Amino acid sequence: MTVVTHTYRFTGQGEDFGPRKGAGLVILHTWESAGNTVADALAGLKWQDRDDTAGSYNRVICVDGVVSAVPDDHISGGVNPASTYFKPRAWLFQVLAANKVNDPNSYALQLCAMGQRAAYDKAGWPPAIIDGFARCILEEEARIGGPVVVANHADFQPGNRTDAGDIAMALVKKRYAELTAEVSVADIDTFKLERIVIDAFANIRSAPAENAPLLFQNGDKPSPAISVGTKNGFHAYWMNANRAWGYTSTAANVVSAEPYQNTVEVPTGITQAQLDEAKATSFAAGFTDAKTKARISVEGIK
Ligand SMILES: [Zn+2]
Repeated sequence: MTVVTHTYRFTGQGEDFGPRKGAGLVILHTWESAGNTVADALAGLKWQDRDDTAGSYNRVICVDGVVSAVPDDHISGGVNPASTYFKPRAWLFQVLAANKVNDPNSYALQLCAMGQRAAYDKAGWPPAIIDGFARCILEEEARIGGPVVVANHADFQPGNRTDAGDIAMALVKKRYAELTAEVSVADIDTFKLERIVIDAFANIRSAPAENAPLLFQNGDKPSPAISVGTKNGFHAYWMNANRAWGYTSTAANVVSAEPYQNTVEVPTGITQAQLDEAKATSFAAGFTDAKTKARISVEGIK
């Protein structure tokens, strides 16, 4: 599933420059407008499309979504190699072939954050934009089947560009590391897929113990979740937003629990095929083999 939520396609000549010559590079930008929503991005893209002046990005990252403007495998016009300010930093030549450094648009997926770098550096970058950058980098790596070099626009035009900046880059690296961290197998005694309903205001903890660190408190309404089993009577379930297992007390915090195979609804992040496989290989055996445990922990309940 892609992070892209909206699509805009240019009609003129100066934005989509056709298929890329290659890959291996991602360049981060800021739009430098005040607005930072999808609506602001779509208005900005329409404005760019009014004439054939060069200038575009593949994706525009907003606080409420990501807009695809130039297909990922096409050339966008985010960097200007014809500018007198085009002086790529030395480190780029150490990690990329010179033809890529000197013609970055032809090899880069260009990601542009809506909003202003200086304002974000001062007030703090919106987590949604940092997350959008990181997930788009992951998607590009998945698309091309290998790692990419991530650079700032400022690394190519240091004399007249400062985007997206060192602060943004550090935050994106941190988020990328979080998203790619190894997922541990749940600490549980018995594997059993169950649809549970967690009580309002229940405490969700990072380990199966009452004194374990509190991850968060459930909202003011009961919430559904898919439990993979229990440890010391605490139900364990995978929280994709936290990239972590959460534990809740069976007696105090679970309003109801029913075997998962009796339900037909498929939760977000698990495919019907994965679910069927989990049922076929796990329910009968009581989730006892290590391979099944690992697969469910990594791919299953998200
Ligand atoms: Zn830029």
